[in-house]
Amino acid sequence: TSYGFRTVDDGEKQTLVNDVFHKVAKRYDIMNDVMSGGLHRVWKDALVAKLNPPRRAGFRFLDVAGGTGDIAFRIVAASDNQAQGTVLDINGSMLGVGAERAVKKGYAGNLEFVEANAEELPFEDNSFDAYTIAFGIRNVPDIDKALREAYRVLRRGGRFLCLEFSEVEMPLLDRIYDAWSFNGIPAMGKAIAGDAEPYQYLVESIRKFPRQDDFAAMITRAGFSRVHYTNYTGGIAALHSGWKL
Ligand code: SAM
Repeated sequence: TSYGFRTVDDGEKQTLVNDVFHKVAKRYDIMNDVMSGGLHRVWKDALVAKLNPPRRAGFRFLDVAGGTGDIAFRIVAASDNQAQGTVLDINGSMLGVGAERAVKKGYAGNLEFVEANAEELPFEDNSFDAYTIAFGIRNVPDIDKALREAYRVLRRGGRFLCLEFSEVEMPLLDRIYDAWSFNGIPAMGKAIAGDAEPYQYLVESIRKFPRQDDFAAMITRAGFSRVHYTNYTGGIAALHSGWKL
């Protein structure tokens, strides 16, 4: 993995990622709206619509790299407050913001917050009905390992859903997007959060992430069946889906 001019190993990469999210935790939600022009809300709603959680008690989901709770809150709401979820993140600052928001929304009884690494999930095999991860997997140093862990903790019949920035597959939009992400996003980061570097890192991590078909192949290699993906906004984001059958 290269970061700027240097090459960093997995441990160093994780440290850089952790620094970014410790710094931005309090401003993370507003930054998301600014950076994506509110689109992240549309994409997250699409993930939850695809999951379509049952409106009955007993559904258990794990939201990995769950940060400040956006995906988990949406799943709980879509289940008529029936679903039980675990929000897992490696970063205590992000989880802290999430736990506070959960109390405010009245979801404290539905959710638990666990500080751990996506590469080593502290759960038994076959524990969850669904595994979700949104804009998180590109930050994980060993993606294959995280996918194998996802497979392990899902029960048979369980579903894997991953939302991530992807390869823009629309001409023109790809150029606008490049201009925005290489110049606009770091500049906005500096203006709002006082620091451009973390955002430069994030933009770079998006560039390095495997494109749609390659990522689908990785999910299949981890053991999942019926793997497919849907592009949103011309491929700025893509939702990958798979089943543990
Ligand atoms: N899912 C949330 C959302 O969509 O708003 C948060 C996404 S945020 C861009 C990425 C999150 O991934 C951060 O909260 C970060 O701490 C977390 N993360 C990075 N590396 C991780 C790892 N190895 N294991 C678990 N979480 C990790």
